[in-house]
Amino acid sequence: MTTTQTGGAEYDARIRRAEWLSSQHSFAAEFLDFYKYIAAFQKTLRANIAASSGVKSNGSSVAELRDPLDLTVLLPHFRGFLSTIEQHAPAALAKSAHQMSLLSSDSWIASLEAYWQHAGKYDQQVGAFAQFLPRAFLQPYAEFRAALTPRAPVVMTTRVCPLCGARPHSGVLRPEGDGGKRFLLCSFCSQEWEFRRILCPTCGEEAEGKLPVYVAEKLLHIRVEACDTCQFYLRTVDLTKDGHAIPLVDDLAAIPLTLWAHEKGYLRLQPNLLGT
Ligand SMILES: [Zn+2]
Ligand SMILES: [Zn+2]
Repeated sequence: MTTTQTGGAEYDARIRRAEWLSSQHSFAAEFLDFYKYIAAFQKTLRANIAASSGVKSNGSSVAELRDPLDLTVLLPHFRGFLSTIEQHAPAALAKSAHQMSLLSSDSWIASLEAYWQHAGKYDQQVGAFAQFLPRAFLQPYAEFRAALTPRAPVVMTTRVCPLCGARPHSGVLRPEGDGGKRFLLCSFCSQEWEFRRILCPTCGEEAEGKLPVYVAEKLLHIRVEACDTCQFYLRTVDLTKDGHAIPLVDDLAAIPLTLWAHEKGYLRLQPNLLGT
């Protein structure tokens, strides 16, 4: 089993980053503290998934990222997941985890399978709250599958993830030469793919004047990249400004930007795990 498959170091880095951000930004501390419990659970689950996959297939790759879920590996961990959420989540989410824990395993399977099939593709009306439980639980599984899925070279800019077909939830600017190269971060399998900088990932607008960029004083390394044509925005973590940032985690701290964009009438194409 390789470290790519267990993902342990990656989850540790996310937890440390959440701790640091939480100490710096009190407005996001409640969310980030809760996120640490999610990431700790996900780390254990990912190691379990990797271990049982090694036993079954000698680590050979899966054909398609969204192939059917291996419920024999996943289901035994679902109750423990629900109780972690019940103990540490904000009240409304804790309540929904409790309600889910009272349902039959058939209902659990239905919820997990529906998410697995449609997430990031046909779920715009569902909302982050309703999706939270299957999304947080299956994220390590999607990331594990993504690590095994062979990547074809990307020959064109695509608006959805080339591995799983889901929409992006963030952008990432990575240092290159004197500036930054933009990537999109998948809302389902957490992989990145390259995407042109002056191009709206929602509607394809290319006119620079229609694509304003905003940065908040409190979080100088996070940009709101808006589009005045479709009124959607992409939130991009700028690693040229803060090389320690972990996009998946830093995005959770950007609550002031969510409020700001909302006031300006811009919508987010795909919310993050905690719906901000
Ligand atoms: Zn993906
Ligand atoms: Zn647009």
